[in-house]
Amino acid sequence: MKKKHSEGIFSLAIIVLISLSLAFVAPRKKPLLYKIRTVVIDPGHGGQDPGTIHPTKKIQEKDIVLPVALELGATIKKYLPEVNVIYTRTTDTFVELYKRAEIANRSNADVFISLHCNAMDIKKDKKKAEVKGLEVFVMGPHANQENLEVAKRENAVILLEDNYKKNYGGFDPNSPQAHIIMTSIQNNYLENSLHLATLIDKQFSERLHRPTRGIKQAGFVVLRRVACTSILVELGYVTNDEEVEYMTDSWNQTLMASAIYRAFRDFKNEVEK
Ligand SMILES: [Zn+2]
Repeated sequence: MKKKHSEGIFSLAIIVLISLSLAFVAPRKKPLLYKIRTVVIDPGHGGQDPGTIHPTKKIQEKDIVLPVALELGATIKKYLPEVNVIYTRTTDTFVELYKRAEIANRSNADVFISLHCNAMDIKKDKKKAEVKGLEVFVMGPHANQENLEVAKRENAVILLEDNYKKNYGGFDPNSPQAHIIMTSIQNNYLENSLHLATLIDKQFSERLHRPTRGIKQAGFVVLRRVACTSILVELGYVTNDEEVEYMTDSWNQTLMASAIYRAFRDFKNEVEK
């Protein structure tokens, strides 16, 4: 009897210890309403990683997203001076995906905006060069092969990193299974992330009159460990001639940055109500 009693206390102690450790490990679910003090802007790729490249014009994704990111940050600083703006890169440098998430978490970011450009495999199918339009992704299970391909392409950059197996817990960017079982703390922020994504889509379609392809979900390594509202914006298709010309024009880069700024501002006003 005495033995049973002590076993009971022992199991209870284990349960309490596990619950306590979970309370420390599990990220606190942020309420829908909160104050936005810090935004981290993440221009994708850089340095040795060009991102996607137009096959003949040789225009590179990394060179489109950087000026848009800098313009976005400058606009936020100008009109919302109370918001702290942090970049994951401000020059043409290589930053590992896990470090981008670390920058966000270390600076207690309230919003994380990752900027990219998409591409189609036009070598296989020339007709795919016609595909164009903005897409805003939030972290989650991909609903179709196309979304998976976007995540795989964006995640493949980790193969350029040293020690990627160690830094990403054995994650293999070439394996579709790895993308399915990818767990993420992003679930806690899904509602807010979807809302911000919708506001950006609306700004591009209604204010800029640009084609948009909707809000999507897929498993992005860069978003996986970020503990705040997070989105990944694919500004348009580098493989579409019209769109790549649009995205490389500096005035249009200002327009795209302004559209994302207005969405961010509206989101901030709504969650701080
Ligand atoms: Zn990219």
